[in-house]
Amino acid sequence: GKYTKADILRMVKEDDVEFIRLQFTDIFGDLKNVAITSSQIEKALDNKIMFDGSSIEGFARIEESDMYLYPDYDTYETFPWRPQQGKVARLICDVYKPDGTPFEGDPRYVLKKALKEAADMGYMMNVGPECEFFLFQTDENGLPTTNTYERASYFDLGPLDFGENARRDMVLTLEQMGFEIEASHHEVAPAQHEIDFKYGEALKTADSIETFKLVVKTIAKKHGLCATFMPKPKYGVCGSGMHMNMSLSKDGKNIFADDNDKLGLSQEAYYFIAGIMEHMREMTAITNPLVNSYKRLVPGYEAPIYIAWSAKNRSPLVRIPSARGAGTRVELRCPDPTANPYLAMAVCLKAGLDGIKRQLPLVPSVDSNIFELTREEKKARHIESLPANLREAVLCMRDSDFMKEALGEHIFTRYTSAKLDEWNEYTRQVTDWEISNYLYKV
Ligand code: GLU
Ligand code: MG
Ligand code: MG
Repeated sequence: GKYTKADILRMVKEDDVEFIRLQFTDIFGDLKNVAITSSQIEKALDNKIMFDGSSIEGFARIEESDMYLYPDYDTYETFPWRPQQGKVARLICDVYKPDGTPFEGDPRYVLKKALKEAADMGYMMNVGPECEFFLFQTDENGLPTTNTYERASYFDLGPLDFGENARRDMVLTLEQMGFEIEASHHEVAPAQHEIDFKYGEALKTADSIETFKLVVKTIAKKHGLCATFMPKPKYGVCGSGMHMNMSLSKDGKNIFADDNDKLGLSQEAYYFIAGIMEHMREMTAITNPLVNSYKRLVPGYEAPIYIAWSAKNRSPLVRIPSARGAGTRVELRCPDPTANPYLAMAVCLKAGLDGIKRQLPLVPSVDSNIFELTREEKKARHIESLPANLREAVLCMRDSDFMKEALGEHIFTRYTSAKLDEWNEYTRQVTDWEISNYLYKV
């Protein structure tokens, strides 16, 4: 690792750290933390800090509720937006049971397990996410709305772009926390933004996505705005995705690249894509976890619907960006930023590895706009759709032995049942749409 225990103790002193947040996530990817003061740091570094897991979604039953936090020393970072005297630092933790074994309900553990399997095959996974979000007005009580007075669009700049100051502050804050920001820009919809950070090793990137969302929301609030990662906050404009750019490396070399191939891709890359496509419908409840996620996956807004791949066109689910060499990668376009990044990466990796192990053949690419193909043409080319809604997605997941194995029984069971409850509650609502379309007519 980067840091030793002695390093952390020294940094806590040198940085004038007063509080340390011990962070972890629940099965939905929601960030949680226990704060300690610096007087408890030794105890924390010795994995002695305990918390009650019973009130955390998907964690534990009452009788097995004691959980221990094992800090990952390398995740030490201070929060630039908190007071700079008596600073706040964070450590991202693994969750362990009292018997000293990893807790199966910890999403970070699920990703670590998948990465171990890849490592046993000689592979390391790199991921680069593209997180999109909206910056909306808050109301007089400081609460979020979906209002914006902004009219800017793709790549616009100030004064049209009302979010430029907030975005600047976000980028600078992220840089202070060790992020390498590659690009940031206004997205297509009014008040929609994107900030891209450099790809990295999967576990680190999953941690970074959690930090990224915290920073974006915190800094937006400082600017009197509300940042939301909700996939489709507004009808009629683009939603927010989180494209996942993935590659495997072996001995530090990207193995998705092959100069001798027509598209510059290796056989492993083709198998990996085939594995993703084979398991996509089973994984969608993880990559697109909300009722609202499926309102983004509709025609006309640059979000995918059909399970197809292309090196030339943006409409399919899997796109191969033009970079080759170290930047060779597979871009999965369906995930949205509400996906639990640990679980999303774990299942994508497992699907890709399955493609490699079984040497799954890859169907031909679809290089025309799929949305212009007729139903018959799609049928003839065996082009399937992503699940149409959360219910369909959860049912696909529930029938999948692959997903049960990838997530482990604990998370698999709790996740599917919580998501079905979410769907059932939603579908019983009487919505504004129904009132405005039916009330006066019938
Ligand atoms: N906002 C689009 C989506 O929902 C993606 C736009 C882009 O290609 O960056 O996925
Ligand atoms: Mg984008
Ligand atoms: Mg993209």
